[in-house]
Amino acid sequence: MVKNKAAILIIYTGGTIGMIQDAESGVLKPFPFDHILEEVPELKKFGYNITSHAFDPPLDSSNVSPEVWIEIAEIIETSYSAYDGFVVLHGTDTMAYSASALSFMLENLNKPVIFTGSQLPIDSPRTDGKENLISALEIAAAKKNNEAIVPEVCIFFENKLLRGNRTIKNNVEDFNAFRSPNYPPLAESGVHIRYNYQAIHYPKDRNKKLIVHRNLDTGIAILKIFPGINRLLIGSIIQTPGLKALIIETYGSGNAPDATWLMNELHRALHKGILVLNISQCRVGRVEMEMYETGLRLSNAGVIGGHDITTEAAVTKLMYILGQGLTGRDLVKSLNSSLRGEITL
Ligand code: ASP
Repeated sequence: MVKNKAAILIIYTGGTIGMIQDAESGVLKPFPFDHILEEVPELKKFGYNITSHAFDPPLDSSNVSPEVWIEIAEIIETSYSAYDGFVVLHGTDTMAYSASALSFMLENLNKPVIFTGSQLPIDSPRTDGKENLISALEIAAAKKNNEAIVPEVCIFFENKLLRGNRTIKNNVEDFNAFRSPNYPPLAESGVHIRYNYQAIHYPKDRNKKLIVHRNLDTGIAILKIFPGINRLLIGSIIQTPGLKALIIETYGSGNAPDATWLMNELHRALHKGILVLNISQCRVGRVEMEMYETGLRLSNAGVIGGHDITTEAAVTKLMYILGQGLTGRDLVKSLNSSLRGEITL
């Protein structure tokens, strides 16, 4: 094996990959990081220069918040010039949110930031954690003509490398826990790691300086439409103090009941200056409000279509663009633009 001297920083935030079973209660709980490298002596074979930064205490990813995203972004910012790539070990539950958020927060990224984790703890005999960690490191270190092959925020899991802001967790059971329903994998691993160069985003100017955006506005709500949804529910969400954007998860290609009371509530929200973004409950495909009358009414009212964005990317993109202070047309323009490859136009 030819040794690659890449310098990689592993940021260990927590998650099942580093958990152990509590002897008394039997529940899985986070465990300090040293344990992980001990469990994977294979890493030495790569010859990489691996450094780690561990969160203390490590987190179950249900406890991840925008403050944690800022911490990850700042670790990357401070060590950016010293490393060829970054691997973020993270719980699977909110990994798609974190990878989406980081994709927006890290502007002009030209190095790999690869999120991974596992469904079984790394010390478990059938763990998926070793393979995931080893492949994530190889991808973070991969270069062609001395440039990173994947200068994006991604999730590597099981055998696929997916763009972070296109990814959803869709399986609690299988090792193959993530999918990217509307965008092809950036790489697939088998005997070799095969990169899908056409799908990978390459910055036009690799020399632009990394900009880390820390302002995230959490004035967001998600409302999933269902048959029988009642007016009081929507009314109370719209009353939420500080609400700036309401994501409505609608049926199919972006349809919702055309009941007058619902339209009135949405008009009320829009009138208060709350942006309403329409995304689909279907994971595959896109919102096209012009297809049915029930969608067209939303569009005519001023609801913005979310294209084929995931819920995770919609939430974090809104946090990011609202945090930039964008309002009115600029806000709408950003939602209709693919900032980091999160939507297909
Ligand atoms: N609850 C865990 C977490 O997200 C699940 C996992 O890591 O797979 O931290």
